[in-house]
Amino acid sequence: MSRSRSVRRMWALDAPTITVDKSILLLGGGGETVTLPAPCFLVEHDEGLVLFDTGLASEAAGDPAAAYGPLAAMFEMTFPEECRLDRQIEALGFRTTDVKRVVLSHAHFDHTGGLHHFTHAEGFVGSGELRYAHNADPHTAGFFRSKDLEAAGRIKWNELPAGYDHDMFGDGSVTLLSLPGHTPGALGLQLRFEDGHTLILTGDAAHLRENIGHTVGMPFDADVVRKLDSLRKLKLLGTRPDVTVWVNHDPQDWATLRATGNEITAASLYAVRS
Ligand SMILES: [Zn+2]
Repeated sequence: MSRSRSVRRMWALDAPTITVDKSILLLGGGGETVTLPAPCFLVEHDEGLVLFDTGLASEAAGDPAAAYGPLAAMFEMTFPEECRLDRQIEALGFRTTDVKRVVLSHAHFDHTGGLHHFTHAEGFVGSGELRYAHNADPHTAGFFRSKDLEAAGRIKWNELPAGYDHDMFGDGSVTLLSLPGHTPGALGLQLRFEDGHTLILTGDAAHLRENIGHTVGMPFDADVVRKLDSLRKLKLLGTRPDVTVWVNHDPQDWATLRATGNEITAASLYAVRS
């Protein structure tokens, strides 16, 4: 059996935001607007850096409409220069070329914008995700950005079959969680810290904590039945006392779990729980 290891360090990088009506995030949840972070997470492992999601496109910083056209107003994008993914990686003392592996939670535009920085990296994506992105159902086609899919075409992807979790390094520290439904290949990321505490990043298997709490999807899920199974899986994982589930777009989780700064540690997660 391989030696059990943990992640060295991880960061929840500062994020641009989008603002939408709650009904887009939760079936039956309309009537109020919600401002969501569009985050990226950087993980340092002995084998190198792993990036989970690539957020909005760097060229949208300061002027989202220039990169996204009418989508920028539709989603009320706010993107300060300091939230650029490439600059934040550099500010931590790394280069974008130091990122050895990139994991795509799914291929919607608020997760693929930075892919062009990482065409040198090894990619991990759920099976069928990129195929679906190129040939999506009409009600979801607007969520895929062709420029980002071109960049994705220059990355060598490992496609992970739906229904199977994948231990990236064979040491239990970084595990890709199969959470299909929102899109065919939706993934989450499970990280184990030195003291054994586990953090689960949901990707968009849930947009708000309420999706998990009430087992309710959102109107643009590709497969409603699989989505509900994935929400139940997250709910079950979250019942373990040593697990923190982070709903990546949830504004409350963002404020709470990053309360002590960009770097996320077992201690910072415990501080929130107590
Ligand atoms: Zn998203």
